[in-house]
Amino acid sequence: MSFEKKVLITGASRGIGKAILESFTEQNFYLIGTATSENGIKSIQEVISSNNSSGEGIVLDLNNDESFEHFFSYLKENDLYPDILINNAGFTKDNIFLRMKDDEWNDVLNVHLNAQFKIIKNLIKPMLKNKFGRIINLSSAAAAIGNKGQANYVAAKSGIEAMSKTLAREFGLKNITINCVAPGFIDTDMTDSLDQDYKNLVSSQIPLQRFGKAEEVADLVKFLTSNEADYITGQTIHINGGLFM
Ligand code: NAP
Repeated sequence: MSFEKKVLITGASRGIGKAILESFTEQNFYLIGTATSENGIKSIQEVISSNNSSGEGIVLDLNNDESFEHFFSYLKENDLYPDILINNAGFTKDNIFLRMKDDEWNDVLNVHLNAQFKIIKNLIKPMLKNKFGRIINLSSAAAAIGNKGQANYVAAKSGIEAMSKTLAREFGLKNITINCVAPGFIDTDMTDSLDQDYKNLVSSQIPLQRFGKAEEVADLVKFLTSNEADYITGQTIHINGGLFM
């Protein structure tokens, strides 16, 4: 069976990544989703099979060099280099700056900024050869406005935005576009642990008066990979209900 395009989504087991995976099931794409555990892979496979789509889940821990080696070898051996790459996976290890430990800083920089560098570096060559590539990197509104307790996360996301602009300049000639999507507060496991009073306070400060849905972020990501967005590159598109303008 021949597919229109191969799509790789990191962190596709839950939250925004899962919604992105679901949004790509409608077309003739071969879907590759990653998660850190077999349970996560099961969730990815369920989305793919329940929508009669084709694809697979692959284990990848962005904070583990050995896991990266297996992942890249597997993609190479199975000719799974993507045409569309969504660098979505992420986590937080918040702490106020004075208490932030080296491992909290390094782990967050590794899973966000360093992982995106490694993934793009290893997967860009086939895109250059094909003269086609769509790369979306998940950033955050926090990169634009800062956030107490998130010096590591904000530094990582700002680095991702800066790197993306540079790559957009380097690879535009080969019809590869690279954009960032920067969500505000979105209802996922990542924001689940926030105290309800804090959530209410934040919602009251958002012009649209609510947290966003993972599906709303997925719609924007999907649009940026579509033909309608062919002339958009090097941008960070914010989706935050008006929280940051
Ligand atoms: P989520 O619901 O917590 O899901 C995180 C995803 O990333 C899961 O699939 C998880 O896989 C994967 N992941 C976590 N640690 C990983 C690691 N070390 N290696 C590989 N994969 C890992 O998060 P989300 O809210 O959907 O966030 C998705 C992206 O949006 C992130 O980049 C986040 O920074 C960004 N973002 C989110 C919000 C928000 O309000 N939710 C706001 C701004 C930006 P497992 O299931 O295997 O753990």
